[in-house]
Amino acid sequence: MKSFLALLFVCTSFVSQAQKTVAAIAPAQADRWQQRVKYNMVVDVDVNSNRFTGKQKLEYSNNSTDKLSKVFYHLYWNAFQPNSSMDVRSRELGKNLVGGRPDWDGRVRDRILKLKDDEIGYQKIISLKMNGVPQPFKYHETILEVNLTKPILPKSKVIFEMEFEAQVPLQIRRSGRDNPSTGVRYSMSQWYPKLCEYDAEGWHPTPYVAREFYGVWGDFDVTINIDKTYKLGATGVLVNANEIGWGYDKPGSELKPVSSAKRIWHFLGNNVHDFVWAADPDYRHIVRKVANGPVIHVIYHQKDTIAAFNPDWEKVADAAVRVLPFIEKTFGKYPYPQYSFIHGGDGGMEYPMATLIHSPNISTVFHEWMHSWYQMMLGTNESMYPWMDEGFASYADDLVSKYYNKKSTLQDYRDTLVAHPDSKNLRDLIENVLPEDHSGAYNGYFRLLQSGLEEPLTTHADHYNSNFAYSVASYSKGEIFMEQLGYIVGASVRDKILLKYYDEWRFKHPNANDFIKIAQDVSGIQLDWYKEYWVNTTKTINYSIDSLWEENGVSKIRLKRIGQMPMPIDLQLTFRDSSTEMHNIPLNLMFGNKLNEHAGQPFVVHEEWRWTHPTYVVEIKRKLSDIVKAEIDPSKRMADNDRKNNRLELTW
Ligand SMILES: [Zn+2]
Repeated sequence: MKSFLALLFVCTSFVSQAQKTVAAIAPAQADRWQQRVKYNMVVDVDVNSNRFTGKQKLEYSNNSTDKLSKVFYHLYWNAFQPNSSMDVRSRELGKNLVGGRPDWDGRVRDRILKLKDDEIGYQKIISLKMNGVPQPFKYHETILEVNLTKPILPKSKVIFEMEFEAQVPLQIRRSGRDNPSTGVRYSMSQWYPKLCEYDAEGWHPTPYVAREFYGVWGDFDVTINIDKTYKLGATGVLVNANEIGWGYDKPGSELKPVSSAKRIWHFLGNNVHDFVWAADPDYRHIVRKVANGPVIHVIYHQKDTIAAFNPDWEKVADAAVRVLPFIEKTFGKYPYPQYSFIHGGDGGMEYPMATLIHSPNISTVFHEWMHSWYQMMLGTNESMYPWMDEGFASYADDLVSKYYNKKSTLQDYRDTLVAHPDSKNLRDLIENVLPEDHSGAYNGYFRLLQSGLEEPLTTHADHYNSNFAYSVASYSKGEIFMEQLGYIVGASVRDKILLKYYDEWRFKHPNANDFIKIAQDVSGIQLDWYKEYWVNTTKTINYSIDSLWEENGVSKIRLKRIGQMPMPIDLQLTFRDSSTEMHNIPLNLMFGNKLNEHAGQPFVVHEEWRWTHPTYVVEIKRKLSDIVKAEIDPSKRMADNDRKNNRLELTW
């Protein structure tokens, strides 16, 4: 290819080796108060009617500086009734066509509308007291509003006592009974009246219409009385393992006999913000122990009594054990005593110390496993910042999958190329064959741009105009946020940011500003602009190589910003002798620049590019005829939506 314009151009830019140093790391500052809960729940399940009754004692610590005159609870299962908000929302989205298909979640569609009386879900409150005094309450479908007879004072504790009853819905989404594709009887998520979170922004009584959760950290003591043939997996450690057996007390043990018709399962989960469980008579149980780490439980449904060994589920257990050291090194330590992969739900859904997964799909396993970091510990308000849990978990699961599959990343190949610059095969592989790291996320984002349906990441998870825009924004654009951050500050600095984020913000409900603050502290680079453009707007990135020419033996390359979002630029030059150089042009808003990411490749930092200026001229102290190729961002980590204008090859 030859694409070469020689222009005479009066250059007003300058080459300088501006190298700003990384600022000292700021001290810890994340002392944000957190409310606290202590649940004690006892439920009695009737597996014939699919109903249960429950008693809930909730010790609630108001650690805020505010007087609380009301509280809210979630009653998620009231969504599974015809004409509920969730039902109507799904059917309304189904009227839109995206790519020729109705834009509804294929699992929900219009199925709620068709539920019969014994198939709907509900959660009803029989009584509610605070410190022994009955409290008035009001239903708003999936939210219970309680106007307290007496306010809860700042820095004080109250005890709520509730009696409730519930009917397990036929499984529509996440929780429910009798999923026809897995055969699992009970997937019990969002099953109890759950106190809404109150934080520095106030209450978050988000009606349940589809997705995303937010909860209060605390301790859960849960006792489940259920038909004796049922076997359970749950958040929390089984307290009465000796009474239950079934691998919980020692490897390979049988379920112990009981004389009564029902059996009691007693679980304790500490420092978690939700509690899930699942039950089925045909569950099987695999147990693995990570050396110096948690116990991994894999609980799967299999009716066949002969083939007890299921290699697919054994693989889930082995994979989880194998990747944990890598995960902990990269993202921070797993602090809980156990984790359970439980066959159930309708895809993959994360809960504290457990996940419900629909099949033993290893990439789902890794995604849900990573939610223990990006949601269970770093619990953002998912409704407000779905990209910070789904996007970050997607970013992480990609790395975990690569580690597990022992696949070299594109970066590994590039590093090899630096050591062997004349390997034509390697170069060809990198440029034309190998898929990009996180390429699925980038391609999804580019498809969203083409659709014209994009909405900013600041959109509330429930309020996107389409499921398509929500999914790509939260998962893909969130994943790119992290990979592209590595482009801006350097990959190894981004890795340090992730660990610092874990250290500072776990168990504290961070938000987007908190993440950016950590990223700035660690990198010494201003990043507010990155959040403002990437998160708050739908402005896009597009840079091009506009022209090259030579003046007095100095090569000049004019770059052009075509998109509205400014970025720092990596410009890689390849010379006749196959050697390469990286020329980095920081954005003026950064007040700093990244350091060389690749030992062995010269790295030249130029004068900053002011965001107001659409063009920039890079000066290279080499003859133009030395240059055979110039490429903007060869790492393809910058989400440039038109890469055709990023590369020029010169033939002489
Ligand atoms: Zn997820």
